[in-house]
Amino acid sequence: MNIEHASQEQLRLWEHQLAADYAAIVARKLNLDLTRGKPSAEQLSLSDDLDGILKGNYKSLDGTDTRNYGGGEGLPEARALGAAILDASPSETLALGNSSLTLMFQCLLNAVQFGFDGPDSAWHKRGKMTFICPTPGYDRHFTLCEQLGIQMIAVDMGPEGPNMDQVEQLIDQDPSICGMWCVPKYANPTGVTYSDAVVDRMAKLAKRAQPGFRIFWDNAYAVHDLAEPQTLASIMAACNIAGTQDSVIQFASTSKITHAGAGVAFVAMSARNLTSFKTFLNSQSIGPDKVNQLRHMRLLPDMAHLRNHMQAHARILQPRFDAVSSALDAAFTGTDLGQWETPKGGYFVSFDTQPGCAQLVVQMAAEAGVKLTPAGATFPYGKDPQDRNIRIAPSVPSVAEVIAAMEVFVTCVKLASVRRKLA
Ligand code: PLP
Repeated sequence: MNIEHASQEQLRLWEHQLAADYAAIVARKLNLDLTRGKPSAEQLSLSDDLDGILKGNYKSLDGTDTRNYGGGEGLPEARALGAAILDASPSETLALGNSSLTLMFQCLLNAVQFGFDGPDSAWHKRGKMTFICPTPGYDRHFTLCEQLGIQMIAVDMGPEGPNMDQVEQLIDQDPSICGMWCVPKYANPTGVTYSDAVVDRMAKLAKRAQPGFRIFWDNAYAVHDLAEPQTLASIMAACNIAGTQDSVIQFASTSKITHAGAGVAFVAMSARNLTSFKTFLNSQSIGPDKVNQLRHMRLLPDMAHLRNHMQAHARILQPRFDAVSSALDAAFTGTDLGQWETPKGGYFVSFDTQPGCAQLVVQMAAEAGVKLTPAGATFPYGKDPQDRNIRIAPSVPSVAEVIAAMEVFVTCVKLASVRRKLA
């Protein structure tokens, strides 16, 4: 189906057929959900040995009684695992509570309110604060900015990462830019892993930015490969060469490794940044949940165990992603109805409809019993300027449910495209 050059007569014929297909789907009264990128129950069960794993032995490797207060930086062995995930040094990595999103919020708040380089560097003193947001991107990053009064400017994501010409130009021209979001591996939602050249240019951004500039390097999918792992160049190694170590703060967590709601989150940053952040943290807590960190270290003592564990996740996830890819390939290859990538890891497939169709597709799918992430959610302020992007998250439903949901999706994309063209 190519609708761009189709005649009115052909479009009306398609509309008639597709409306009948759609009515048949609505009559099935489905109830399927492709919204949030969560692990399925089957994936969560891979880590159920966490329960009871300590068998009364609460001592960490250095003899710390993990039940007590203290250890604000996290257990040394957990910090080492976080450092290995993030390609950072253990002494510059903290292992903390269950959510990396919380750590991102805390780092943002520290930068806005107190300043990583002392009170004069607090971002709020600049008046206007702006973040660069590669789009489509992760909706919760944008919510954090909105909550803290940080404006957002979108830059395009390409096959190798953010459009670095746009990023550099913005930094050169706009002194209110104080930071940037990045999901550098299997990006949410495009699945793109940043190329070496992009990582290198990222590491050099601080040289042209205002002092205090920070890149929030959210490596949420660092070890979440589906097939052959893609390699991401080390941002810290590149920063060490560029002399910009203070400009990057890295985040990761075990949320999609073990139990999503009861994991361990990691943050890595330069020694200078750590001094500021630890002061910020120490006033809030007398230490993280070290018992949970110890449980994680008994289950996943090193990267070899972690990689095995992630392969078990991949075996569960891959058929679901295959179901999405097969449906999209069969329906849209060679048409002008949409564009998508087949991700090599992460939790999402990002689909671009014809301009002006995404909201209609999401609405029609909802009316046919398939919930999709609201159109626009992958853009700052929830507004996709071209109304094109839809994020598909197939991890939770069964393979049969993904197949059924994709049948609905495909029909909705076709019908919405034809109706839009006819309108
Ligand atoms: N960062 C990204 C890019 C995500 O996609 C998600 C969850 O979907 C998170 C962070 C949330 O991480 P956490 O569970 O560690 O707060």
